[in-house]
Amino acid sequence: CGIVGILGDHEAAPTLVEALKRLEYRGYDSAGIATVNCGQLDRRRAVGKLANLSDLLVREPLAGKAGIGHTRWATHGEPSVRNAHPHRSGGVAVVHNGIIENFRPLRAELTQKGYACESDTDTETVSLLCQSFIDQGLSPRDAAEQTIARLEGAYALAFLFDGEEDLIVAARRGSPLAVGYGEGEMFLGSDAIALAPLTDRISYLEEGDRAVLTRQGVEFWDGSGSKANREVRTIQIDT
Ligand code: GLU
Repeated sequence: CGIVGILGDHEAAPTLVEALKRLEYRGYDSAGIATVNCGQLDRRRAVGKLANLSDLLVREPLAGKAGIGHTRWATHGEPSVRNAHPHRSGGVAVVHNGIIENFRPLRAELTQKGYACESDTDTETVSLLCQSFIDQGLSPRDAAEQTIARLEGAYALAFLFDGEEDLIVAARRGSPLAVGYGEGEMFLGSDAIALAPLTDRISYLEEGDRAVLTRQGVEFWDGSGSKANREVRTIQIDT
């Protein structure tokens, strides 16, 4: 339901939770964040209000300056920690808004190859498929690209990877997503409101777009695979 992402210059977890709070108005049943720290992906997830996630983070802190976060409104799989995002398969973490319509055939294909799902969600097939491409030798970025090419349905997606502290891959089809520009930092949000305290410079992904974020900036590709330029707008939202 809500997505945020940060490639920051300080600890990401508190900022991710703050940004998710700004999306609370949309409603949600669970929430979670993932970060990469010293090359290692890790995540925390909690059912119910963001306060539960915050409490968990006090007990079990999550270090790292790169991260993604999600508030979930369940469509496939009951609200539970197991079904909460980020989903993680091996070295890939994914947050997703929307519905992957072809997740059943994708899951069947992956199961046949020996990959097992741990949740009941449509989303986990995305992280699992991406990990299967990495296992075939693709780079995280190419693996994400190949994964997105296989998806049908509506999605806003953000990928975070083991060993990649300066990379978030994002994609939009049928569900909004915006990139925010900082000074040596980059941000991602399903809603510009989430990013308002962090930056006032935003580019919206267009339908079918993929975005590759590093702290240096962002590159956009359109649905046909061509490099694209997306306007940088200055937004004014009361924080
Ligand atoms: N379909 C996904 C799920 O049920 C994402 C739902 C959402 O947009 O929050 O986990």
